[in-house]
Amino acid sequence: MADFRAMTAVEVIEALRQSAPTLILLHKRPDADAVGSALALRLWLEAMGSPACCICADEMPEHLAFLGAGLQESLLITAVPAGFEGARIIAVDTASPAQAGELVPELEARVSLMIDHHGTGTPFADHYILPSAAASGEIVLALIRASDVAVTPRMATLLYAAISADTGCFRYSNTTTATHLAAAFLVERGIDTAEINRQLYEAKSLSLLTAEKAGFERLHFYESGRIAILTFPYALQQQLGLKDEHLGTLVDVARCVYGVEIAAAIRETATPGVYRVSMRANVDFDVAAVAARFGGGGHTRAAGATLTADDAERAEAMILEALLQAER
Ligand code: AMP
Ligand code: MN
Ligand code: MN
Repeated sequence: MADFRAMTAVEVIEALRQSAPTLILLHKRPDADAVGSALALRLWLEAMGSPACCICADEMPEHLAFLGAGLQESLLITAVPAGFEGARIIAVDTASPAQAGELVPELEARVSLMIDHHGTGTPFADHYILPSAAASGEIVLALIRASDVAVTPRMATLLYAAISADTGCFRYSNTTTATHLAAAFLVERGIDTAEINRQLYEAKSLSLLTAEKAGFERLHFYESGRIAILTFPYALQQQLGLKDEHLGTLVDVARCVYGVEIAAAIRETATPGVYRVSMRANVDFDVAAVAARFGGGGHTRAAGATLTADDAERAEAMILEALLQAER
């Protein structure tokens, strides 16, 4: 495998000061950290003289449309936009090639820089990865501040949403002093934090609530309730008319139950036999290490992977076995 280099913040800023058309790649099934970081990165690059455009293997989810409004409604490009033919490519919040997804395939090999905060992944370019950062947004903010470009209220809104989302509104254990200081700096830019957090946490579509309701009915408990796993068949997703973006928070259904220490949501994808697994830990347990066993990764307490299994029961048994083995 090619050897990729860890870059310093100074090197990253120097590289990005060189004006050049830039495509910013964010991971598939984009979340608010990916969207917020990528769009803020875009505004920063534009402020430094580079035309920039964000690209993703999936469309902007409906619940994050408020972040892109007026900037970029669509993230999914099926062809390289005019003017970006030879563009440099920067990946943000994307730990592994698998997370990039089935984007215009030749683009992935051309990524020249990764900016990310995942501790477990497969670097695919020279990189600036800080696993201690709660969100990629925290890293992008520090880079912008170090570059002496003014952080506009627009950038601040995007970065605050990124950081709030990956910390569960500053509740998760990845939230540090630096996270709060970053948030305080952003709040000082005059942003509407109540509205951002309402959009992120309170406004739920009926489809999302439908997914959660079906998820609660499919919960299985193991080890006296310490482990909760749910599976979601693709046929059920179709029957309920749900898009993938409505299933992204299913793991929280398993994780929120009193007494649950480790939670997993296993959803069957459109490809029969291929399952997408999300894992969360409410205690000091490394779910990224378990995800890595299936070729995935993530953070100590939040990780994901894709696996193949004969059926959902088998997929659930594989995950349970891997969790129990890791506990021993
Ligand atoms: P998810 O359960 O999909 O929300 O993912 C939980 C966390 O793990 C997120 O920070 C993801 O970016 C990360 N993650 C998911 N899949 C992978 C993967 N294949 N490689 C590395 N990190 C991943
Ligand atoms: Mn993300
Ligand atoms: Mn992230």
